[in-house]
Amino acid sequence: MNAVVSASGVRMSYGDVQVLNGVDFTVASGEVSCIIGPSGSGKSTFLRCLNGLEPVLGGSLRVLGEEVGHALRDGRYHPWTPKEFAAFRRNIGMVFQRFNLFAHQSAAENVACGPVHVLGTPADRARTVAMEHLDRVGLAEHAHKRPHQLSGGQQQRVAIARALAMNPALMLFDEPTSALDPELVDEVLEVMKALAADGMTMVVVTHEIGFAREVGDRLTFFADGVVVEQGRPRELLAAPRHERTRTFLSSVA
Ligand code: ADP
Ligand code: MG
Repeated sequence: MNAVVSASGVRMSYGDVQVLNGVDFTVASGEVSCIIGPSGSGKSTFLRCLNGLEPVLGGSLRVLGEEVGHALRDGRYHPWTPKEFAAFRRNIGMVFQRFNLFAHQSAAENVACGPVHVLGTPADRARTVAMEHLDRVGLAEHAHKRPHQLSGGQQQRVAIARALAMNPALMLFDEPTSALDPELVDEVLEVMKALAADGMTMVVVTHEIGFAREVGDRLTFFADGVVVEQGRPRELLAAPRHERTRTFLSSVA
């Protein structure tokens, strides 16, 4: 199996506040890797490091075969140019708790936007691609609607379609269902489950323990900027080795 993500001793701080204290974490191609952990433990920061949105200040982080933020040229590592940074990020889809759709565009326009403006796909082709991805998330018949005409669950599915339209090699999800009303959570999890079944490599920060158990290949418990424990979801959930993990699990169950 090829490692899509390989983090070793990753450190990151905001000023004096150390947020990641040496994270070791790997994701193989096609794997669904779920991350759980208390608020403030560095989960979102780690995801942002994975797609180069935050600088890695220590350790090593390789994603999709690249040392994040650094290119090897002339036998030495150099900081990425903006162009190299953009080329890297294009391969990684990210879905946030808040969907951040463009309010004045239809669902189809939201999905077509990246292919047109980033990939240079001709508008009519991008529209076809957008329709394919909206169909994939079960929203083909809502393609003409603006975000305010869609439920939160539908908006999040548009956000997933928008990320998929860039044809990413890795998808990152940061609590994608946390902002949703409870009855809308499942429709989003079902889309993510289908994506996993299609073989997408995914890192999913979530409090949906059922999803992690059923769909995840690996489960990682984060606390205080480190990986406390990691394992197969069923095994970790049935028999957590650390007290912190047990306490956390009893708080979300
Ligand atoms: P999680 O996603 O696990 O809740 P975060 O990665 O969002 O954790 O945050 C980890 C820590 O970093 C928290 O203490 C948070 O307050 C701090 N933090 C997050 N973003 C910033 C920022 N932009 N500037 C300063 N501190 C931040
Ligand atoms: Mg977070």
